[in-house]
Amino acid sequence: MNERFDLIVVGAGPAGSSCAERAAELGLRVAVFEKAVFPRSKPCAGGLSSRTLGLLGPSVNSIIHHKLRTSEISIGRRVTVTWTGRDTSVATTSRKELDQYLAERAIRAGARVEFGAAVDSVTDLGDRVEIVVGSRTLSAPHLVAADGVRGSIRGMVGMPTLRLSAAAYARVFPDRSSDLEPFLDRVMIDGDACRGGYGWIFPKRDHLNIGVCGTAPLGPDYIRDVDRFIEKRGLSSWRMEGHFARPTPAEVKQTGLAKGRILVVGDAAGLADPITGEGISYSIASGRLAAEAASEAEGGGWEASTVYRRRAAREIVPVLNQTRRLGRFVRALGPGPMSLGLRIPGAAAKLESWMPRLGYASEGGVLSIDTKGPRR
Ligand SMILES: Cc1cc2nc3c(=O)[nH]c(=O)nc-3n(C[C@H](O)[C@H](O)[C@H](O)COP(=O)(O)OP(=O)(O)OC[C@H]3O[C@@H](n4cnc5c(N)ncnc54)[C@H](O)[C@@H]3O)c2cc1C
Repeated sequence: MNERFDLIVVGAGPAGSSCAERAAELGLRVAVFEKAVFPRSKPCAGGLSSRTLGLLGPSVNSIIHHKLRTSEISIGRRVTVTWTGRDTSVATTSRKELDQYLAERAIRAGARVEFGAAVDSVTDLGDRVEIVVGSRTLSAPHLVAADGVRGSIRGMVGMPTLRLSAAAYARVFPDRSSDLEPFLDRVMIDGDACRGGYGWIFPKRDHLNIGVCGTAPLGPDYIRDVDRFIEKRGLSSWRMEGHFARPTPAEVKQTGLAKGRILVVGDAAGLADPITGEGISYSIASGRLAAEAASEAEGGGWEASTVYRRRAAREIVPVLNQTRRLGRFVRALGPGPMSLGLRIPGAAAKLESWMPRLGYASEGGVLSIDTKGPRR
């Protein structure tokens, strides 16, 4: 039997579930197919930017481990830039909890979400898209590919492959929970932890998530960088679980956002911050845009791909291009000249105004620069 929907979504990560929730709210009969069985863990640092928190609203508080107003960014050996926001700049959670929460939101809105249902093939037939899930064939006027950075749908429909960089981390547990205390009020970012990238320390309920994100493709250097970073911060004696190393999108190309009746969202479309690797907010935003485009196509005969491509180009791609340019500039400068540059009068004020605009911090924060080096 060929079951028909208004919209089919492949993948129930942040992009797919957010797309399905919005589509159901707009009255579409939407089905999500997810190959994993939830709750499942997923390699990710679980950092929710202020932009992600804004998109999800207060109900996300139920899965938050820590809310952090301060980001401490060390550059070179001596310079530390500290941003303290009026509101939370970054919150932490686990992907097991986040993805379950987002899938439940979609189900509550009226979407059908099937777990343990891998999509084996996707065919754009011109007037509809047909998929095969096990022994079933299903169809819809549009399909949203939310199948992540290693998803196979791009390949199935003849879209170009993504250019990839990578990130890696370990989970580091203290013997005594009180040892976590010095880490509970801030996100630590280290500009020297990984060549061409940075390192992070995110506090979770019972451990620290310590990782690095770079511009090179996935390789053994990432694991070495994580270990070096843990040692540099004096945490080698803590119990370590990991490593978890995965590719991340290196860039977004507008041509990669849609093809025919297939709309590509989240990591599958390359929509992640090229400096920080932050992708959850872009996944949620692009998923919702794709749902709205599919709904308009349903009602008014608009081409969903055109609408989605145009809106994403206006609302999502420009900020990613800005951060890519900023990333190139920062890397070309290097830590030494960068720390000198930050002492130039007016540089701190400039950075203070950029941070919220690039989605790195909430509005109304205060930035301070000191030259004594990181706390530990
Ligand atoms: C080490 C690391 C740390 C990161 N830390 C952060 C962070 O702190 N904050 C942040 O914002 N971002 C972070 N990111 C990026 C973030 O993880 C991604 O941007 C985000 O997961 C993208 O969401 P998505 O829904 O597009 O894809 P995914 O979360 O990858 O979801 C894709 C889903 O599709 C399913 N799927 C794939 N193929 C099929 C198929 N054929 N049939 C059915 N289902 C299928 C998969 O099982 C998966 O559940 C990190 C990434 C890495 C690698």
